[in-house]
Amino acid sequence: MRSQAAPHRGIFLSGTEGRQIMKDIVIIGAGTAGLTAAIYALRAGKSVLLIESQMYGGQIVNTPDIENYPGISHVSGFDFAQGLYDQATAFGAELVYETATAIENEGDHKVVRTASGSSYECKAVILATGAKNRKLGIAREEELTGHGISYCATCDGMFFKGKDVAVAGGGSTALGDAAYLADLCSKVYLIHRRDAFRGVAADVEKLKGKKNVEFVLNANVTAVLGDQNVEGVEVTDKLTGEKRVLPVSALFVAIGQEPDNQPFANVVDLDPKGYISAGESCATKQPGIFTAGDCRTKTLRQLTTAASDGAVAATAACAYIDSL
Ligand code: NAP
Repeated sequence: MRSQAAPHRGIFLSGTEGRQIMKDIVIIGAGTAGLTAAIYALRAGKSVLLIESQMYGGQIVNTPDIENYPGISHVSGFDFAQGLYDQATAFGAELVYETATAIENEGDHKVVRTASGSSYECKAVILATGAKNRKLGIAREEELTGHGISYCATCDGMFFKGKDVAVAGGGSTALGDAAYLADLCSKVYLIHRRDAFRGVAADVEKLKGKKNVEFVLNANVTAVLGDQNVEGVEVTDKLTGEKRVLPVSALFVAIGQEPDNQPFANVVDLDPKGYISAGESCATKQPGIFTAGDCRTKTLRQLTTAASDGAVAATAACAYIDSL
């Protein structure tokens, strides 16, 4: 099978189901960076396969309101992601839902292997693996996930309509989640381990204007109470050591992300935090393997920089293929 929008000659891909598809570029991860890379590569005449382990769109799907993407004054994360997906697939991108587990160099091409046993051959790979939610690391966090502990306010907030909830974190995600939940829930406690926020000041000011938001600063979440479901959250003041129980039905954890690039550590360099080492060129140390978005070393992880990386990585991958 060959993409209508991809006249350029690719090489065969073979999955466990015996599928044979011709692609030039395999993009691992269908978030903002991966989908943007797909759009650029397809418009440059290359064939593209996206491999995604969860839903397309990546982290931004969980962001209720985007107000800092140039040219778009307001859009929900879901609508933004849907628009990107529609645009990429309209150009001929194909997507498989699988977990990529390894990349192998085989002569002048690469083989991407997946957890299901499929293997996909291509000329270039773009790693756009994003990052996964960081855990608080407190007792019973896993057990109560789905029973009051959530990592996605827009997915689960409705379950707690009219109730008291807590958000942990001090970045843009936590601020956005707190604002979203404040319009839905009767009270929102925003728990942050410092008294200064990593998220933007304008969002902090907006939250301060909401009467049902209480800031719990310089505090750590030290326990979650409740048998079957969350019934309260214990916070400990970092300065005084004083403990306090917040009577909430849910704890939304929004304390950032961590990369998940270990499966590819044999072909690309990772920095000490696990991000893929690559500069603004998005080229890794490995010819033919590029990286884009939150999974790479960078100072600013935003939608704009993810989209920018996608364009840069795709353009570099196309130039690499043309040079073969
Ligand atoms: P983040 O910016 O890394 O912030 C994580 C927050 O969680 C920080 O305030 C951090 O505290 C706190 N934290 C980290 N580990 C913790 C722990 N173990 N216990 C308690 N608190 C902990 O993560 P994010 O808010 O998810 O944002 C990720 C990236 O996406 C950022 O670059 C952000 O700007 C971007 N983003 C962009 C948009 C948008 O463009 N509209 C929307 C959402 C997010 P400290 O501050 O003390 O380190």
